[in-house]
Amino acid sequence: MKIICIGRNYVDHIKELNNAVPASPVFFLKPDTALVIRNRPFYYPSFSDNIHYEVELVLKVCKVGKNIRKKFASTYYDEIGIGLDMTARDLQDAAKSKGLPWDVAKGFDQSAPVSRFLPKEQFSDLKNINFHLDLNGTTVQKGNSSLMLYDFDDIISHISMFMTVRTGDYIFTGTPAGVGPVKIGDKLEAFIEGEKMLSCTVK
Ligand code: MG
Repeated sequence: MKIICIGRNYVDHIKELNNAVPASPVFFLKPDTALVIRNRPFYYPSFSDNIHYEVELVLKVCKVGKNIRKKFASTYYDEIGIGLDMTARDLQDAAKSKGLPWDVAKGFDQSAPVSRFLPKEQFSDLKNINFHLDLNGTTVQKGNSSLMLYDFDDIISHISMFMTVRTGDYIFTGTPAGVGPVKIGDKLEAFIEGEKMLSCTVK
């Protein structure tokens, strides 16, 4: 499986990192070795001094597709969860300044804690899903899928122009404002519509 992540999909987060609003969805990959499941801890890596959390809704792909038209895109994912796009912001800033790829900053081991998934049918409106992240019990990020520049169907359609999506692939759909650093001992808890979905301790 692969993990595809959308960057710069919420205007308030684009502004907080002083990035430009993209003319089409920006995406990058994490390898399957990035995955952390079943609320296992995140171990702070030795190569970074500035690891950030980014909470994001995550789609689970349910069939193989290439060049998917937007009007059919919703049939290619059937479950929604929530995940943390853990980012070595120091390595990312260094890569960005040199025009180099982001792989070391975004694709390192354990950089993708992901929750259990909920069936898509459980949501009355996919364009109005509330989610948030608590850090040590205080809410630090709040988002709603209505605020995405590119919605789920835009994302699937765009990605599949370049890369075949396959059953079991995960798609991180971008983070709202409020990203920030973690330290050892922190507890991250992610919620969809007020329901706790993911708990991750930094060790
Ligand atoms: Mg992200």
